[in-house]
Amino acid sequence: MIKLSLKNVSISILILFTIFTIIIFSNLFILNRESQCLQSYVEHQTLINSIRKPTRTITNVNHDGNHLAILIPFRERFNQLLQFIPHINSFLNRQNISHEFFVINQIDNYRFNRGALINIGFQLAQNSCTYIVMHDVDLLPLNDQLSYGFPARGPFHVSSPDLHPKYHYETYVGGILLMTNEHFKLVNGFSTNYFGWGLEDDEFYARLKEANLQIYRPENIKTNQSNTFIHIHDQNIYKRDTAKLFNQKEITRRRDRQTGLNTTKFNLLTIYNMTIENIEFRIFNVAIYCNVDRTPWCLKPSSSSSSSIKFKKQQQPKNRR
Ligand code: UDP
Ligand code: MN
Repeated sequence: MIKLSLKNVSISILILFTIFTIIIFSNLFILNRESQCLQSYVEHQTLINSIRKPTRTITNVNHDGNHLAILIPFRERFNQLLQFIPHINSFLNRQNISHEFFVINQIDNYRFNRGALINIGFQLAQNSCTYIVMHDVDLLPLNDQLSYGFPARGPFHVSSPDLHPKYHYETYVGGILLMTNEHFKLVNGFSTNYFGWGLEDDEFYARLKEANLQIYRPENIKTNQSNTFIHIHDQNIYKRDTAKLFNQKEITRRRDRQTGLNTTKFNLLTIYNMTIENIEFRIFNVAIYCNVDRTPWCLKPSSSSSSSIKFKKQQQPKNRR
């Protein structure tokens, strides 16, 4: 009897000791992770501060003293980039637009977040430009009537629904949108809740409306939806990530007043100075931030623990036990 209870006591002590050790180690791990985050945050701030006014892609500065930053939200679209850079560079040179390219390459393991990447691009570019264009890498303007000049009056939506080959709803503001730095700051950039494909541009439309910004679009264009742009997007190769995970659908339908330009956190890991056909551009490798408690749908289905267990189970050959 005594022997048995002694055994019980020692088992209990062992269990308590194990729990205690786990708690201590997990706390140490969290602390360590936090200090790592802080350290990389400090490093990225230092890196941002050290980004000098870059060499300009062309020597003609706009007669009005403006300079355009082309912000390209990007991941695994190198074939398209090879076409995009020379095409846009010649297109803008024909309009004498002083410009430079910022390719914002999302290299973390979260689902693609176009809004966050545009906010990051703006943070990196704002000291060296007076206006921005957020530009899909796969949408090439074909008509020289489309102006990329300084949009002083309000956001200028180049890829208007009347001209875009695919999206024709009136409130569409995706694809190619020009804005002054001031207007982009005024609306606090994009919501960063949108991981995966779609809706971030519709939420951005709500921001423009609420700020009473009028959206301008090309006028008197001689071309139409079939020949104003070319959308070089083979949907068999580049599939859209349309999954709606957890309560993503419900949350992302609403206007977001919490996140934006001023809450966008990221780590800038590398800057590559590159050229395509002698045209200079830079690729910024960034890891974006996700609070997985608040927006758990940032995780790819295969990297969230429950689905990865499911995935592993499905992968097991049926005849193995
Ligand atoms: N994009 C990217 N990698 C991705 C998904 C999107 O680089 O995996 C960028 C790219 O600039 C693209 C834009 O986001 O042009 C819009 O995405 P997508 O072309 O899939 O949307 P669409 O306008 O064709 O519906
Ligand atoms: Mn596309």
